[in-house]
Amino acid sequence: MAWANMIAELIMVGTELLLGEVIDTNSAYLAERLAAIGVDLFYVTKVGDNQGRIARLVKEARQRADVVITSGGLGPTVDDLTKEAVAEAFELDLVLCAEALGAIEARFQCMQVPMSDNNRRQAYLPRGAKPLPNPKGTAPGVLLELADGKAIIMLPGVPVELEAIMEGSVIPYLAQRAAGDNGIIFSRVLRFYGLGESNLENLIKDLLVAQTNPTIAPYAGSGEVRVRITAKASSEAEATDLIAPVEGELLDRIGEYFYGYGDAGMESVVANLLLAQDKTIAIAESCTGGLVSNMLTNVPGSSGYYMQGAVTYSNLAKEAVLGLDSRLIEEYGAVSEQVARAMARGVRQWANTDIGIGITGIAGPGGGTDTKPVGLVYIGLSSAQGELVQRRVFNGDRLQVKERAALAALDMLRRHLIESKTEKV
Ligand code: ATP
Ligand code: MG
Repeated sequence: MAWANMIAELIMVGTELLLGEVIDTNSAYLAERLAAIGVDLFYVTKVGDNQGRIARLVKEARQRADVVITSGGLGPTVDDLTKEAVAEAFELDLVLCAEALGAIEARFQCMQVPMSDNNRRQAYLPRGAKPLPNPKGTAPGVLLELADGKAIIMLPGVPVELEAIMEGSVIPYLAQRAAGDNGIIFSRVLRFYGLGESNLENLIKDLLVAQTNPTIAPYAGSGEVRVRITAKASSEAEATDLIAPVEGELLDRIGEYFYGYGDAGMESVVANLLLAQDKTIAIAESCTGGLVSNMLTNVPGSSGYYMQGAVTYSNLAKEAVLGLDSRLIEEYGAVSEQVARAMARGVRQWANTDIGIGITGIAGPGGGTDTKPVGLVYIGLSSAQGELVQRRVFNGDRLQVKERAALAALDMLRRHLIESKTEKV
């Protein structure tokens, strides 16, 4: 099976999904992960807890795809029927798997609760299938390879369990199969801020059309885009060599938006810059309600640069805590360039840090005017090099405006740190 055209299909099992009681987030997660390793996905279906219908769907999916992944229905209760349905579809019986039983017993022993016969049922797999270890729960995932080389992979419905088995067993399995016996699949993720997804597609369309090996997969995160470059090769060094020119071409075109690699988000990139430059920071937030402080302190080791933060929501708090002159707010309004600047300066002086950030804006849905619309945010930055203020208008609902404003503040800080690198005063 060639990796570039391995086709997967997803079947999401659970009556609760059809009733709208549970939102199917598993398929979104699985789809993103499959795209990331270059596996095509053409169909995703939902089906209730009905053995006959699940069996029929699995059989159909197997005609269309190389790998069928199911989610849900592996639990110990009577409405958990996925294994039974797969066994029915391929005329297999369910047999006790010693390895699966051992793992389930060990888990119950560890939790010091008695194990029921129902849990024993979870160790029965379609004949020939292998259990996939579940580090987060009792039901193991199941891998069934059919005679024609196609695979049925069954995962539990609980998202943390599904994700743990996907990351730990399924992705390595798919990547290895896709690469063939002596190949590897190697990916590098580039992260960009400030560039819309459609804009990105326009700028790199020709690269996307021409891709073979490596493949290029852009996907949108919240307020940012990521581009994953995935190469198939016989060694990591060879894969890196294949990736390098494509990465270079991407950076030539959209490098001004690039901020980092892999799993490290904007807050980690900023944290590393602050640490590397030995600079300290304090944050004064109004409309973001402490989100920037939250993001920065999510990074381990944040005590190395983060000194203090204040959520100064009311005018009075801005004056009392940050020392703003009350005339400033009267004259320009709380959401203004002047106030953002004074907040940044005020918090920097209060905390005696190298950098101060001040954020004030209108998160909505109310409070907007013609000149100051909902989504308007001013971000101030004060440092020994001087003061800057950015005026931004963000789309979205209240939470999105807060998140986008926080990310924008971190990006402004990141750019400031890069530009002022050598100037620690
Ligand atoms: P369990 O051992 O908990 O019974 P299971 O493999 O049988 O696990 P289900 O019973 O189908 O899985 O689902 C368990 C729970 O996982 C559901 O109640 C739901 O909250 C969540 N869940 C199931 N399917 C999805 C899905 N597609 N997306 C998000 N959450 C889901
Ligand atoms: Mg269940």
